[in-house]
Amino acid sequence: MELLDGRALANELTQAQQMTVATLKQQGVTPKLVVVMVGDDPASAIYTQSKQRRATKIGMASELKRLSAETTEADLLAVVRQLNTDETVDGILVQLPLPKQINEDHIIRAIDPQKDVDGFSPVNIGRLWLNQPGLVACTPNGIMRLLAAHDIDVAGKNVVIVGRSNIVGRPLAALMLNANATVTIAHSRTADLKALTKTADILVAAIGKPHFFGIEDVKEGAVVVDVGINRLEDGTVTGDVDFEALKSHVSAMTPVPRGVGPMTITMLMDQTIEIAKERAKRG
Ligand code: NDP
Repeated sequence: MELLDGRALANELTQAQQMTVATLKQQGVTPKLVVVMVGDDPASAIYTQSKQRRATKIGMASELKRLSAETTEADLLAVVRQLNTDETVDGILVQLPLPKQINEDHIIRAIDPQKDVDGFSPVNIGRLWLNQPGLVACTPNGIMRLLAAHDIDVAGKNVVIVGRSNIVGRPLAALMLNANATVTIAHSRTADLKALTKTADILVAAIGKPHFFGIEDVKEGAVVVDVGINRLEDGTVTGDVDFEALKSHVSAMTPVPRGVGPMTITMLMDQTIEIAKERAKRG
């Protein structure tokens, strides 16, 4: 079995990003990512810190705007609009979830689609489904990069994606379709899931249920992408797939951790750098 090692690829890409950032800086443009966090959700704090750390590591400018849990929607909209107009800001990311008094859709819609590095805005999602250039959600983007780096061509393959969230399943389906795969999206209401997943040349598990998929769910020789991140009671992190059971059955598979996860932040940096490149071209 070929291990689809996301950490190794992420490390390689990070080094390349460091060099690109250095070149951009010589041209007078420092790529800048601003992460906005509202409230003090501990998981969000960890995610935002790791984004900050990565940005700093590759030489980018990064700023964390921490707003109180009582922030109103109007206040947050004002912050987003100010960032939209700030020429030095390339990427804007509002960490989700937001407190109840704020409508997430209103905020995501307010982010300038050209700075929407999470790729969640309706404009970017529309572009993605129209197969037009735009910013793409980072986890699905990372999956495509990881498969490509291992010369796994999705064209003509039966791809079954289990999970239909806006951040993983749906945008990944669009990317796969754009890359000429035949795509099926499954979810909790899918009838006879096992029969379906067994047809997959490439199976993507993104449901958030530890070890849900075993040998009886997967065709021999298939490629398996495990997006799930599940923290068990003993503190260990595991995916949606039974890695040990499947490793002698499939042709390639991502581990958890060190598979899809490390690619997500790497794609966030990549998109921010791409936006900064456009800024450098404008001069
Ligand atoms: P959501 O909870 O938003 O979506 C889960 C999806 O799985 C839903 O579409 C749901 O169906 C489906 N589902 C749940 N149970 C079943 C089941 N028994 N059979 C079939 N389908 C099922 O999750 P996310 O997409 O946000 O995340 C999925 C997993 O990926 C999580 O473990 C998360 O931590 C991880 N993740 C990892 C990332 C990374 O960087 N590696 C990034 C983002 C997420 P329905 O729509 O019908 O409810």
